[in-house]
Amino acid sequence: MSDLRFDGRVVVVTGAGGGLGREYALLFAERGADVVVNDLGGSASGDGGGDVRPADLVVEEIRARGGSAVANHDSVEDGERIVRAAEAAFGRVDVVVNNAGILRDRSFARTSDADWDGVQRVHARGAFAVTRAAWPGMRARGYGRVVVTSSAAGLFGNFGQANYAAAKMALVGLSNTLAIEGAAYGICCNAVVPTAGSRLTRGVFPGELVDALKPEYVAPLVAYLCHESCEETGGVFEAGAGWIGKLRWERSQGRIVREKGKRMTPEAVRDSWEGITDMTSASHPSSIQESTATLVDVLEKINEGH
Ligand code: NAD
Repeated sequence: MSDLRFDGRVVVVTGAGGGLGREYALLFAERGADVVVNDLGGSASGDGGGDVRPADLVVEEIRARGGSAVANHDSVEDGERIVRAAEAAFGRVDVVVNNAGILRDRSFARTSDADWDGVQRVHARGAFAVTRAAWPGMRARGYGRVVVTSSAAGLFGNFGQANYAAAKMALVGLSNTLAIEGAAYGICCNAVVPTAGSRLTRGVFPGELVDALKPEYVAPLVAYLCHESCEETGGVFEAGAGWIGKLRWERSQGRIVREKGKRMTPEAVRDSWEGITDMTSASHPSSIQESTATLVDVLEKINEGH
């Protein structure tokens, strides 16, 4: 099989001045893409900014290796500007990798409005703003690949990361819906859940783990999801250390706790709790239609006196 190439494709990677984003940008460029290396050059908590060096250094690195890239230093909150810069440099945008991120970790009790809003703005609003700006062009050309970056902290929760976890799950919802709305236009969208040593994880993981979990063990997944030959969409993929897996929802068989003509009570819920939470023979609903169909079925059963 031939190598996966991106010749002629224009790829925007946000937050590509370091960590995972840098690795994505280098890989796309190595494979022939024209890359927009976006990074506003702020601190890990999103304070400051305006340091053009991180993005510029990655562009220099790409060009030194014979690749094609331009730097952009806007915040992802100004998604429109990033996409316009990409169009000015390369004519259009085929791929958006929403990777920019910050952390403002606090226990929930100490989370301020600024801690909450700053994190939502960069992760959730940023991905919305950049992707929405690129979306009309993708639709018009009938082609696009979008990746959002979620987190295990979002999927499972993590102490001190209520703001970040909420934003990261928002991105899964965004991705699921973009996959549906993009389907008719050749646009695929997936969420990645990376684990890698970077400035964001340096204080979280032990030093040797930071060194062992290299961003280059995540980048090939992002590249594959963004290739024209990959039609996967609406998926959530965990990646780290050279391992990749797919996540999905699991739902118990559940129990009907109401009888026709009778009031539904909390006691009925209690008495069926074991059955409600029993994951034996669980199903894996993957659409809102499947989710609703269950309820139509339940109504029928109750009416028939199940
Ligand atoms: P990183 O700090 O090295 O990279 C994030 C980059 O985003 C930085 O270069 C930063 O300057 C840039 N950035 C921040 N705010 C921006 C903004 N408003 N506009 C443009 N750029 C901005 O960290 P990383 O670990 O490489 O993180 C990349 C992404 O992966 C983040 O979304 C992070 O939440 C996510 N993630 C990382 C891990 C991990 O293990 N490293 C785990 C789960 C999720």
